[in-house]
Amino acid sequence: MTDDEEREALGETMRRFGRGVIGLAKASFRLDRSTETQAEARMAICKTCPSGLYKNGRCDRSQGGCGCFLSAKWRIASERCPKGHW
Ligand code: SF4
Repeated sequence: MTDDEEREALGETMRRFGRGVIGLAKASFRLDRSTETQAEARMAICKTCPSGLYKNGRCDRSQGGCGCFLSAKWRIASERCPKGHW
């Protein structure tokens, strides 16, 4: 991996981390929190992911997923499945 590729990968990681932190903070303050029914529906879809990307609680980035920790993502109302499944 070249230096530019490493910098780009680090930048993308930091951007995703930042979005995750902001999303969790909003959910913690109940500003953007999904309902329990919505979170459970999302969980059911992910656990039988039509794209086969559910892997150890994450959406498998190496296969084109978002790389998110899904238990947190399900609880943030404005989050979306990168493949449009929910
Ligand atoms: S977020 Fe979408 S693509 Fe990722 S595991 Fe869940 S259903 Fe699959």
